Amino acid sequence: MQFESVIGLEIHVQLATASKIFSGAATAYGADPNTQACPVDLGLPGVLPVLNREAVRMALTFGLAIEGEIAPTCRFDRKNYFYPDLPKGYQISQFEQPIVGRGTVAMDSPDGKPRTIGITRAHLEEDAGKSIHDAFAGLTGVDLNRAGTPLLEVVSDPDLRTPEEAAAFFREMHVLVRTLRICDGNLNEGSMRCDANVSVRPFGTSELGERTEIKNLNSFRFVERALRHEIERQIDVLESGGRVERETRLYDPERDETRPMRGKELSDDYRYFPDPDLLPVRITPELLDQARAHLPELPWAKRERYVNVLDLTRYAARALAGDPDTAAYFDAITEAGADPRLAANWVMDHVAASLNRHDTDIARCPVSPAQMAGLIERIEDGTISNTAAKTIFDTLWEKGGDIDAIIDAKGLRQMCDADELARIVAGIVEENPEQVADLQAGQTKILGFLVGQVMRATRGKADPRQVNALLKETLGVR
Ligand code: ADP
Ligand code: MG
Repeated sequence: MQFESVIGLEIHVQLATASKIFSGAATAYGADPNTQACPVDLGLPGVLPVLNREAVRMALTFGLAIEGEIAPTCRFDRKNYFYPDLPKGYQISQFEQPIVGRGTVAMDSPDGKPRTIGITRAHLEEDAGKSIHDAFAGLTGVDLNRAGTPLLEVVSDPDLRTPEEAAAFFREMHVLVRTLRICDGNLNEGSMRCDANVSVRPFGTSELGERTEIKNLNSFRFVERALRHEIERQIDVLESGGRVERETRLYDPERDETRPMRGKELSDDYRYFPDPDLLPVRITPELLDQARAHLPELPWAKRERYVNVLDLTRYAARALAGDPDTAAYFDAITEAGADPRLAANWVMDHVAASLNRHDTDIARCPVSPAQMAGLIERIEDGTISNTAAKTIFDTLWEKGGDIDAIIDAKGLRQMCDADELARIVAGIVEENPEQVADLQAGQTKILGFLVGQVMRATRGKADPRQVNALLKETLGVR
């Protein structure tokens, strides 16, 4: 029998507010244990939570981006359970009246086709603290710095069909929340975590099978791998005549398997009830306006514009729109008048490589978009070769300066245009069949001879590196 898998994700997005969702304590990552937990986060008697307006604003911006239903009021509930990292004995969450209802996310599926994934809801809640198992021999420590950090939990419909598609959706959400600037997207620090719900059913049937939930996946790769394993396991169970049990499982990346953690609680187990310490929140038109003012061009709209208006490949569109800072840098170059395709190649190639080499990111790139546009203009008008432009870029990076002045100082002005040079190279290749054959047979030293011939033919006016590259390209040697 052929099986089909059905997947829905619950994604926890840590909102990038400066302070916690119900207290004034800082949310910064990496502080010493328990230095950022105030009496509210510690759940001391007599304290009262106060809702962080910015967390509400960010949730609303998200809701508007996915065209989600936004009810005039939402409410906070207590979700009761016992765990050492939850000193109050309950988590403040939203149950019956979440801030964001049904909406949709547009994504590029792994096969490149656009897909729309339903969002069931998105609700605000507080994060719990952390249990530290490896700091003290035989003891567990509790760090409550994370307690009270605002989370937006986004629940997808069971619309995803393969592990690759689930990972692509997680990626799309990652791009979306960073584009909206509501989350730093730092997966290593746990800023986005995902629970994956998965079931299998005979191919062609429409009824949903019993599902399991894999907890706390914090990378795209783990989502894909954990799901692949869990799907195989479920199919094995069914094929050997067994039944899939509704349960919560954990993925162990080291052993590359999922294993049971606990039987799945039903919502009744949590004894949800409205938190009497918090009033229902009225979503006023003013709040919605503020949220709307933070809406940037959305990733899917950006990709379509790059493909349809700027004539970029879908690959380039996806790469550039995949990071908001990269997209902003690219947009600024093209807005300054540079050719979009050249700009895209530069951003993805030499700029990316330079950022990588200097271990920095594009928001801190020392070469400004305006300088990039100026450089690209000199390539377009034939003043310099692409190779010379890289030299100039590196100079701009190290020392700054004026592009035309650098061109003259370094003698990078192209003495003949690219077509003419190509003709001269073709001529030299034709005149030297034996040397060309030797070179192609592996005698790499001959390249220098051919470069010399071309330089002589141009009376030294060509850029030797350009000649070198052109010869290699023409002759198909490395
Ligand atoms: P719970 O209340 O147990 O968290 P929900 O109904 O909120 O359950 O669903 C949680 C997630 O599980 C959602 O992302 C949903 O799409 C997904 N889901 C629900 N049923 C199935 C199923 N049979 N197979 C796969 N995923 C499912
Ligand atoms: Mg759930």
